Amino acid sequence: MSRILHRSLRKEPMLAVSGKGLLVRGTEGPPVIDASGGAAVACIGHGDERVVRAITEQARQIAYAHTVFFTCEAAEELADLLVGDSPGGLTHAYFVSSGSEAMEAALKLARQYFLEIGQPRRSRFIARRQSYHGNTLGALGLGGNMARREPYEPILANCFSHVSPCFAYRFQGEGESDADYVARLAAELEAEFQRLGPDTIAAFVAEPIVGATAGCVTALPGYFPAMREVCDRHGALLILDEVMCGMGRSGTLHAWEQEGVTPDIQTIAKGLGGGYQPIGAILAQGKIVRALSEGSGAFKHGHTYQAHPVACAAALAVQRIIREDDLLSNVRAMGARLEAGLQERFGNHAHVGDIRGRGLFWALEFVEDRASRRSFDPARKVNEAVKDAAMAAGVMIYPMGGTIDGRTGDHVIIAPPYTARPEEIDRIVELLGQAVDGVLSRPG
Ligand code: PLP
Repeated sequence: MSRILHRSLRKEPMLAVSGKGLLVRGTEGPPVIDASGGAAVACIGHGDERVVRAITEQARQIAYAHTVFFTCEAAEELADLLVGDSPGGLTHAYFVSSGSEAMEAALKLARQYFLEIGQPRRSRFIARRQSYHGNTLGALGLGGNMARREPYEPILANCFSHVSPCFAYRFQGEGESDADYVARLAAELEAEFQRLGPDTIAAFVAEPIVGATAGCVTALPGYFPAMREVCDRHGALLILDEVMCGMGRSGTLHAWEQEGVTPDIQTIAKGLGGGYQPIGAILAQGKIVRALSEGSGAFKHGHTYQAHPVACAAALAVQRIIREDDLLSNVRAMGARLEAGLQERFGNHAHVGDIRGRGLFWALEFVEDRASRRSFDPARKVNEAVKDAAMAAGVMIYPMGGTIDGRTGDHVIIAPPYTARPEEIDRIVELLGQAVDGVLSRPG
């Protein structure tokens, strides 16, 4: 029996043995195609020797150097590569070990910024329902994943509140135009500012493309500029969580590039290190870092493993590969192929209510009844069943629920590595089709 406190204490996971390209091999059965990058992590595929070399060389040179005493070349070069040309005014990077830590750091940087500029009342954060921002207590309190929040409600901070997401399939009114829906959401955010007191809000926080909780939900055109306008009018910051949808997954390096806004603070993680090492980061606007440097002179936040040399060396290698191999062009081309394949295979499927996403980040939402968009009984665990059937068929997709009220709804995410080839995309759609048909043709 395993001594690890696994995610499930009922069913131990299989031992992973090896990974190469899109293929992952466990101890049982043939290799499977990693069509979800784990959870949208493995962006350049598995086993890239260039990253392995970078990790080995860094570990040999120096594996660890505490940031109280040292910086390291890999971290400096990674920061230069990410913000050297100040994309959207982002000028500084701060490296941590996960997406949740990045979100915690973003919240604290926003709070400290307002202290530095003499606005100490700003301590509240508005986020959205149907969003997930991580599992540590700050990030969990910020997010709107009800199932994950529920057991911990009594120990979550009370500086967070939630407004509706921009989620056309589920929440746009019948006959409501896109412009009216966006205006309604902007009015809701404005009302929340007014309810809490506009001068108490530090930031509005959102994922440009909602990942796990709702399944690759893109915003309507004009939504983010409208939210930004509300924030700007009240002097609050805009924090964008690109932990899942960022670093190329959407077809541009940052998902916000397609939204007509730039964030004040941005978080990144999964695609930053591609799974070769645990690493996340925040990227911040010059005005924020300036306020700290001209004020107290320090970001009052630190971790033992921040800017870890081996993690930074791995991420640097991954980011160079994305650029040198022009993988973003492949994301766009293979993304279009994946979209077309999913539409052809599932567009008329009786139990696929919505096919949505961007780049190489796509989801299928399953419904019991297409016309009414009624979800399956959660007890049936359709998303889990599709994941298991897909694994058995030879393809790994990511199952999640919670599209409607944070508890119900079933979707799976298809997020293959940026290196995917046309025949691999076609095979993913084919195998997923077999799995979905197998599960949904069974009586409930
Ligand atoms: N933010 C988003 C949008 C995520 O999808 C996740 C993880 O899935 C996180 C934050 C938390 O990241 P981590 O699991 O690395 O702590």
